[in-house]
Amino acid sequence: MRSLTAPELLGAWEAGHPHSGPGRALALLCAAWPERSPGELARLPVGLRDSLLLAVREQTFGAEVVGLVPCPACGEQVELAFQVSDIRVSPGAPVPEVLGVECEGHAVRFRLPDSRDLAALAAGPEAGGRRQVLARCVVEARREGVDVETGELPAAVVRAIEEAMEAADPQARVELSTQCPACAHAWAAAFDIAEYFWREVETWAQRTLREVHTLASLYGWSEEHILVMSPWKRQRYLELAGT
Ligand SMILES: [Zn+2]
Repeated sequence: MRSLTAPELLGAWEAGHPHSGPGRALALLCAAWPERSPGELARLPVGLRDSLLLAVREQTFGAEVVGLVPCPACGEQVELAFQVSDIRVSPGAPVPEVLGVECEGHAVRFRLPDSRDLAALAAGPEAGGRRQVLARCVVEARREGVDVETGELPAAVVRAIEEAMEAADPQARVELSTQCPACAHAWAAAFDIAEYFWREVETWAQRTLREVHTLASLYGWSEEHILVMSPWKRQRYLELAGT
């Protein structure tokens, strides 16, 4: 795994910005793995996608993660600070493309949710999101040999499928034990690397564009020339320019 260069980061930002969250995460992955097709990367299970994003983020911006989450009890902004290694799940055995569960007389075969499913969810209404993902991922559901619609699966069967999905692709869900310093409320705060990394890239890109603008205006250098310059050298020129 290598870090993304400045031209690659800026290219991913440009490619991802018209999309919703899943498309943006995919743009970052495509920049890191140009040798793999976007279709192939979109079919990676969400947890596997996230473990790759974590690795690219660690190489590009470092291992430390610092963010703010609102306390669900009092609304206070609470700091989350941890290392990428704290939330990295060790890769288990390779997961077959189609998994199966048997529960309450039902036999269900399904695949793990991927970026295509998240994109479909992001484009649709919020309500019924879990069922919508399920409807896309269930390959076959039968009860006593008869096909069953995904929408008619009992809650216990749905739960069994979701538990099996989580066990097979554990990096898809990251939660951190958090306590609010203001009201002492304790909860498990969800952390989404795709969203977090994109926000960082956006902040970085906006700052970098300003730097390119300043240096290009002053010296007439091209964007390409300025972007391949080391950040250290760019800062020295910006200091000389008095910005
Ligand atoms: Zn609180």
